[in-house]
Amino acid sequence: MRINTTPPAAEPVHEYSARDRAHIALDAACNKLGVLLEITNGPKITEPVVKTRTEPDHPSYFVPAKWDLADALARLPRCYEEWAAEQTPAEPASETFALNREQLYAAIPGAIDEAARATLGEQYNPQVAADIAANMVALLSQPKPQRPLTAAQRGTEWMAKWGCPGFCVQEHGQPEASEFHTTAPVETALKASEVDCSGYSQGTDNLPWMSAQTVVSNDQAQAYGRRTNVFLGYGVHLAEISPAEARRALDAMRAFTVRLAAVVDFAEQTAADDFAGDAEIARLDREADARRRAAIDEARGDGAR
Ligand SMILES: [Zn+2]
Repeated sequence: MRINTTPPAAEPVHEYSARDRAHIALDAACNKLGVLLEITNGPKITEPVVKTRTEPDHPSYFVPAKWDLADALARLPRCYEEWAAEQTPAEPASETFALNREQLYAAIPGAIDEAARATLGEQYNPQVAADIAANMVALLSQPKPQRPLTAAQRGTEWMAKWGCPGFCVQEHGQPEASEFHTTAPVETALKASEVDCSGYSQGTDNLPWMSAQTVVSNDQAQAYGRRTNVFLGYGVHLAEISPAEARRALDAMRAFTVRLAAVVDFAEQTAADDFAGDAEIARLDREADARRRAAIDEARGDGAR
């Protein structure tokens, strides 16, 4: 009699197809660059391209659905560099541009006046035209808020020197810069000092109420590895937490906003019955209070001092 030595059927192993593997590799490469991978059937995308849908800090790598993903991976660095180059702010410092800009501003009042004369007919008023022109020049002359440069915009040499991922906006080498790498923070427009009555936020007028950014530590990565965390700022407090913990914080916040909305709704309804009080009665009350305290002080003998 023979013993059956056939091994028990193995657990079915999921076989990744070549396309699955290419997809995973491409996805990982996009992640490293802070780019969202979007496989698309859209008619406008005829070849792989890095583009920005809304916010300049959040580009996507659009790849046509039928494209060879290994080829898309090979093209990614080039596509990313092309996108990053477009993001580099133009150099308004050039003298020609400054000169042209001055000429342009000088020409605006005349052009507006001419246009107003032509279109407004009897309603034309030189002062209104001059006001519009002055407003326009004032708006154009306002300095544009500067976005911090990303490591990708600074170039591959910078990235290699500091070990920066493409998204990093730290000015390494400057005294106030961190050793770790960070995205530009997302922030509430609301400032901590606008809502904090504890006093902790005094003198922190520009500190946002809440902020968050991705932080990567990769100093001597071969020895100590690489760690990605989230800085979650709330007023003067700061949490440095793992992405998983940040996910928990996000879930907690989502659940909380629903209940916060209920509290705000209820407070608004309740506040409908609020009233200011009578200034005259308040004055009498304060005076009576002052007399009462004076009498107590005198009884204690403090009044003599
Ligand atoms: Zn960096």
